[in-house]
Amino acid sequence: MSGVSVDKGTKDAVPADSLVVLSNVNKHFGALHVLQDVDLTIARGEVVVVIGPSGSGKSTLCRAINRLETIDSGVITIDGKPLPAEGRELARLRADVGMVFQSFNLFAHKTVLENVMLGQVKVRKTDKKAAEEKARTLLDRVGVLSQADKYPAQLSGGQQQRVAIARALAMDPKVILFDEPTSALDPEMINEVLEVMQQLARDGMTMVVVTHEMGFARSAANRVVFMADGKIVEEATPDQFFSNPRSDRAKDFLSKIL
Ligand code: ADP
Ligand code: MG
Repeated sequence: MSGVSVDKGTKDAVPADSLVVLSNVNKHFGALHVLQDVDLTIARGEVVVVIGPSGSGKSTLCRAINRLETIDSGVITIDGKPLPAEGRELARLRADVGMVFQSFNLFAHKTVLENVMLGQVKVRKTDKKAAEEKARTLLDRVGVLSQADKYPAQLSGGQQQRVAIARALAMDPKVILFDEPTSALDPEMINEVLEVMQQLARDGMTMVVVTHEMGFARSAANRVVFMADGKIVEEATPDQFFSNPRSDRAKDFLSKIL
């Protein structure tokens, strides 16, 4: 399989095969050109952090990869398969792409345990007993097993987001997209979520993470992708990007957040 070479810094070797490929992707909202000729390849096992100013198209990029948004032109493939427009094949491919949102998006009227079981039973057709066992294992892994029988509203934001990560993992996704997963959290809860994400990264999960947490980017990312005005302006290792950004847009952005 053809692949990209990944400069991994001090991290373990990343296999150089492409899992998610965006080729010449364009997306408009009316007159607004929100994704402009976006080319991006994510290798299996790679952790890509996407940063950029508000409105630059980061969420739209994530949503397009999961086909929560259609695109106007270009091609997106997951593990070599183009994203179909609809139907059962789309549901299957979408299940390969986990998504963790800023606002948790748990089912409010289901318990924590049910939240992590539901997709397994409905989409993956796993039997209930196996789904429950797996849900408990994953809830334990993210440190919220003791909350299994509660409803989302009874949990803190940090706990809810860890449940959302467990729910994504329950589908055995090939890649997980995180769209500002800590932006809605109180400061004291940010680290407990980032630590779970760090562990996933160490375990070799392929991850696309939109975040303003530069500490996470520095320690977990293989690559930083900087977006502005719907374009990928710069791609670099975290070290290169933070110590020596090439574009004026990136320099300007970093001067405001660091
Ligand atoms: P980011 O996540 O980088 O802040 P978004 O991808 O959310 O950026 O948005 C990119 C641009 O597209 C913004 O100008 C936003 O207002 C616009 N946009 C996003 N979603 C929609 C939509 N459903 N309809 C119209 N405009 C949208
Ligand atoms: Mg966004």
